[in-house]
Amino acid sequence: MKNLQLVDLSTQYQKIENEINEAVINVIKSTAFINGPEVKNFQNDFENYLNVKHVIPCANGTDALQIALMALGLEPGDEVITPSFTYIATAEVIGLLRLTPVFVDVDEDTFCIDPNSVREAISNKTKAIIPVHLYGHCAPMKEMLEISEEFGIPLIEDTAQGIGSDYIFPDGSSKKAGTMGAIGCTSFFPSKNLGCYGDGGAIMTNDDNLAKIIRMVSNHGQSKRYYHDVIGVNSRLDSIQAAILRVKLPHLDSYLKARQDAAAYYNSAFEKCDKIITPVVRDFTTHGFHQYTMKLVNTDREALMAKLDAEGIPSNIYYPLPIHLQKAFVGSFKLRVSLNVTEQLMKSVLSLPIHTEMDDEQLSFISNGVLNNIL
Ligand SMILES: *Cc1c(COP(=O)(O)O)cnc(C)c1O
Repeated sequence: MKNLQLVDLSTQYQKIENEINEAVINVIKSTAFINGPEVKNFQNDFENYLNVKHVIPCANGTDALQIALMALGLEPGDEVITPSFTYIATAEVIGLLRLTPVFVDVDEDTFCIDPNSVREAISNKTKAIIPVHLYGHCAPMKEMLEISEEFGIPLIEDTAQGIGSDYIFPDGSSKKAGTMGAIGCTSFFPSKNLGCYGDGGAIMTNDDNLAKIIRMVSNHGQSKRYYHDVIGVNSRLDSIQAAILRVKLPHLDSYLKARQDAAAYYNSAFEKCDKIITPVVRDFTTHGFHQYTMKLVNTDREALMAKLDAEGIPSNIYYPLPIHLQKAFVGSFKLRVSLNVTEQLMKSVLSLPIHTEMDDEQLSFISNGVLNNIL
């Protein structure tokens, strides 16, 4: 099997090559590189897809999170609750703004924030909670929204890995990940479920007033041209990236389906292997499978990875070190709950290649490789 990759962006591009090239060239010809019409067009398309009132495009997912925290007007020392088992960006922006991260544990089956852990970690300084839709599985939003309401603390959803996933409420109604909390944040990093060809991000909200503040913060704190009401940042989605995203958005649902099909293949291949616990999908969510992350039982993970690598099968650990154990965070966070599950998961998770262009031949090669080497 040649050239297996964790993510294959090239084959995906080839299928939409003409449309993409035309969209990019049109922006170049128009020279409307910054805040051109394509940015507004993508914003409208994305608002419709997500069924959310406001999308504010920005430069990347990390900026989206930072701008969300700035828009809530938090002060240094205010506490923000977030899982430690996530990508660094979620907590990095909390530290950057001199807010205090308070780390909580995750559910051992879904890898997502544990609402009981959140309840234990709340203090009178808690000013925001950031649930993460990790790997494409929605966080338990019903419970999180109840906590938000009960304590009057806004939720910022980090849906950088969960864009397009649906959260299903007990009455059967559903909402898109990133549209349930006060603010949602996403990334269009190329390998994300909806990726552009460079950096990109967006902030979502149904709140008119927050939308106004978010727009202002992301545009130099400017209320009208050359009048700056607050300290802001410069964070924009390029017109070229917006044009690419407009071409790709109509494919998002089929991209998610392709990922789900690949995950289903792995699940059935590993069904009988007692050393692998395949990903759990709760009834309240669809799973976008940004990652196919399994848990290994009584297995030397590093040895397995080395054997897979020797056979040309890439694998990766998301994430090998939780944030509360990262050097950059020493002494700058609070812990009120045990992070036992997080510390266990860190040792047992392994992610296999998953993307929109996997065929049965590749899936069979990879799953056989895993099964043959895990023994
Ligand atoms: C990718 C990612 C981000 C950051 O997005 P960038 O566009 O790379 O800045 C934030 N949170 C999570 C969970 C991510 O996976």
